[in-house]
Amino acid sequence: MSTHLTTVAGVAVDTRHFIGGERIASTETFTDVSPIDGSVLAEISRGTAMEAAAAVAAAKAAFPAWAATPRAERARLLHAIADGVERRLEELALVETTDNGALLRSHRRGVMPRVAHNFRFFANWLLELDHEDFTTRGHTNHVTWDPAGPCVLITPWNAPLMLATWKVAPALAAGDTVVLKPAEWSPLTASLLADIAAEAGLPAGVLNVVQGYGSEVGDPLTAHPDVRRISFTGSVPTARHIAASAAANLTPLSLELGGKSPLLVFADADLDLAAGLAVEQYDNAGQVCLAATRILVEAPVAEEFTRRFTEKAAALRQGDPREESTDIGPTIHPRQLEKIDGFVRRALEAGARAVIGGHRGEGQYYVPTLLTDVRQDSEIVQEEVFGPVLTLQTFEDEDEAVRLANDTRFGLAATVATGDAERAARVTARLVAGTVWVNCFFVRDLKAPFGGSRHSGVGREGGTWSFDFYCDVKNTVTAPKGFKDHG
Ligand code: NAP
Ligand code: MG
Repeated sequence: MSTHLTTVAGVAVDTRHFIGGERIASTETFTDVSPIDGSVLAEISRGTAMEAAAAVAAAKAAFPAWAATPRAERARLLHAIADGVERRLEELALVETTDNGALLRSHRRGVMPRVAHNFRFFANWLLELDHEDFTTRGHTNHVTWDPAGPCVLITPWNAPLMLATWKVAPALAAGDTVVLKPAEWSPLTASLLADIAAEAGLPAGVLNVVQGYGSEVGDPLTAHPDVRRISFTGSVPTARHIAASAAANLTPLSLELGGKSPLLVFADADLDLAAGLAVEQYDNAGQVCLAATRILVEAPVAEEFTRRFTEKAAALRQGDPREESTDIGPTIHPRQLEKIDGFVRRALEAGARAVIGGHRGEGQYYVPTLLTDVRQDSEIVQEEVFGPVLTLQTFEDEDEAVRLANDTRFGLAATVATGDAERAARVTARLVAGTVWVNCFFVRDLKAPFGGSRHSGVGREGGTWSFDFYCDVKNTVTAPKGFKDHG
């Protein structure tokens, strides 16, 4: 076996970059470990400015032919990639779980089918993408979505392949070419995606994958003058850095960032449903950007809500994410575990009380935690923990609920539990968030826009919004036949 192949959960994964249709190795590597048991999975090619430049050059060279490829053919290739994802679904699920520690059952049933759906959805949407012409004084205004050029897509580790393909699929559908930089803590499924794309017949250079540390390959990618779009999902500090780097060329950016989203529980809510929604926030060990980590409960029902919440949380099983019965897996990395622990320790020192949890588990696990007696201006209420840590505060009325809900620098999502439709309409209208859920969580149509307000992001992706971002949108105005009057 080539020294560049590693076997993870029985699946062969190439550890090299994928540039211009070829596997390219770097002389240096970085080590990828499994959060399940700390075992070393692979030595991954550690990209430098050289590989970053080569990948952008490959994407630039492939762009004219891909942009000129008829929409129907681009859509066919995206469906072929989706077929490949479905064929290798079990392998992708196993590798992803081993690499980032998220639940195998979620990868099998939810995440990997969604990866395939990302490709099918944008392939189909591309074929329907159209706009009725506008007419002004007899002149038609015809809107088209023209391919923009090479895109740099940078993604995090919490849902690696899902978030990567949420960008790769619309970019390819739009007629753009791609350089994908996966997160260093979970790079493996991006490499499998490169194999799948090649097998599907995607032309060389249309999708490139560069691996490495963000601090090393980030700038050479994001500051590159030939890059026409940058889409990034990750943290606010990295986003600031990328925005500054992209500023040199005024490269358009889409930023999907962190959150500190609220769950508002009104006294008129179905409390069982509300407690269920709250417990759902421990999914993926709390490593979810959208997670409603601030539970705000109307005072008269706080005790009853907490009782039901605690009951449901006690039933959660923490353990090996490959086991069907596990609900909460490990934290991605010892560094992340330290970070979570630090947040909770400081909160407890400041007077918070742990209703459940409040400490680490064995190994790389953090015990699901609910903290109460927290101040609105405290770190634990204001900053994203990105772990299984929720806070609970009470409110007296609708005004206070909205005030607390909106009082952070984030605005990614919000969830409202209420039995009163009029209240739902009033409250949702006042919440600052890219997505608001009423009596539900996480469900959303890919046709709808997705993104964050304030520090939770810049721009929206999804449906036509994705094409608006990945394309140069053009309006062609044509005079009516025989038109002479330009006065
Ligand atoms: P991160 O540290 O910002 O890293 C995200 C990606 O950026 C990684 O691929 C990272 O590479 C790369 N990167 C780091 N420094 C860079 C630089 N100077 N230039 C270019 N790229 C660079 O975020 P994370 O800790 O992986 O992810 C967690 C964050 O993502 C949380 O804040 C979460 O809320 C957010 N998130 C948001 C959404 C959303 O849709 N809104 C979804 C999921 C997650 P390395 O891994 O090599 O450092
Ligand atoms: Mg890993």
